[in-house]
Amino acid sequence: MTDDSHIYGTFVFPEQIFERGEGVRMFDANGDDYLDCTSGVAVTALGHAHPHLVQTLKDSADKLWHISNLFASPERDRLAARLCEATFADKVFFTNSGAEAMECAIKTARKYHYESGAPERINIITFEGAFHGRTLATIAAGGQEQYLEGFGPKAGGFIQLPFGDVDALKAAIDGETAALLIEPVQGEGGIRIVPNEFLRELRTLCDENGILLIYDEIQTGVGRTGKLFAYEWSGAEPDIMAIAKGIGGGFPIGACLATKDAAKGMTPGTHGTTYGGNPLGMSIGNAVLDVVLEDGFLAHVNEMALVLRQQLAEMLDRYPDIFEDVRGVGLLQGMKCKIPNSDVLIAMRKHRLLGIAAGDNVVRFAPPLIITQEELREVRERLVEALDEIQATLNN
Ligand SMILES: *Cc1c(COP(=O)(O)O)cnc(C)c1O
Repeated sequence: MTDDSHIYGTFVFPEQIFERGEGVRMFDANGDDYLDCTSGVAVTALGHAHPHLVQTLKDSADKLWHISNLFASPERDRLAARLCEATFADKVFFTNSGAEAMECAIKTARKYHYESGAPERINIITFEGAFHGRTLATIAAGGQEQYLEGFGPKAGGFIQLPFGDVDALKAAIDGETAALLIEPVQGEGGIRIVPNEFLRELRTLCDENGILLIYDEIQTGVGRTGKLFAYEWSGAEPDIMAIAKGIGGGFPIGACLATKDAAKGMTPGTHGTTYGGNPLGMSIGNAVLDVVLEDGFLAHVNEMALVLRQQLAEMLDRYPDIFEDVRGVGLLQGMKCKIPNSDVLIAMRKHRLLGIAAGDNVVRFAPPLIITQEELREVRERLVEALDEIQATLNN
């Protein structure tokens, strides 16, 4: 990238310019196809240009784009009702992004205790390797020094503990604890799975101590792990949950879901948003659910997940100099590398296969949930070409 770009220097873009997408493929200016195992960071759950989403967007564009929260919206009510019907939740607040959904989750938890006569309960306990967004509060929640450095005082009220350490957690919970916050699978942190047992332990600890359990399912939600939400694998329901990414299928929407009790402090005027819940976005959220809630959709995700997982396990066997581990749930899989993950990603891109870096030197695979077995076979072919090339340089 040349430094005469007018885009902030926060991102480093590769050379390719993509012009259009269709399903799991993106096409560059030459018409060459790339297999997209990024889904725009687990966002385009139904792939690119899904006919039902495109039609919904076109139809909605002729009606109402934006009305703000000054007015009621049947689309908003309908999406909220469907999300509640399908989950633990009774109440929904719509946002434009994941970080805003997290902000709402944090505010909801603190306000719950304030309203319950325990205003001193403000601390949110989080876990090492977490990622909850890039706002000032969510970088404090994530606790990663690389994201906090240089941005002034860290927002107060966040305590970070080692990943998966029940004893440390029991010792840390006190009269100022408001909530525990966790991703059921750490996405940015390197596809680290939180054991179901640990999530159930968190639920028990919350119940025993009168504190709230918050899940960040911004990356793991909306079918990504083979359940509508990843927490269903454990059976441990949260009180509050942030979602985004997949629910918009590429349209920027997010939501904070809560039980009626947990949301009791969020009364008129206590929180707001200008764009959140706009009719255009809501119609697309509903269209995503039309597809994801169809009979057989999640079964398809689980079948494809098995195929992808087998392929990646084969790569681990075949290239022991490159990989040391494969891990993940559903169509959110990661391979921990022995060489820099960026080397693997660059070789993959050369062979027209797109993946994403994650923490802990992991290459992340998050293909659209509509990927087929035939397309996964192509993923495997291109992966083998890329890895053979790396292996040849390692042998020299
Ligand atoms: C992407 C992500 C976020 C932040 O979402 P934005 O829409 O980028 O604000 C927060 N938490 C998790 C787990 C994520 O994957």
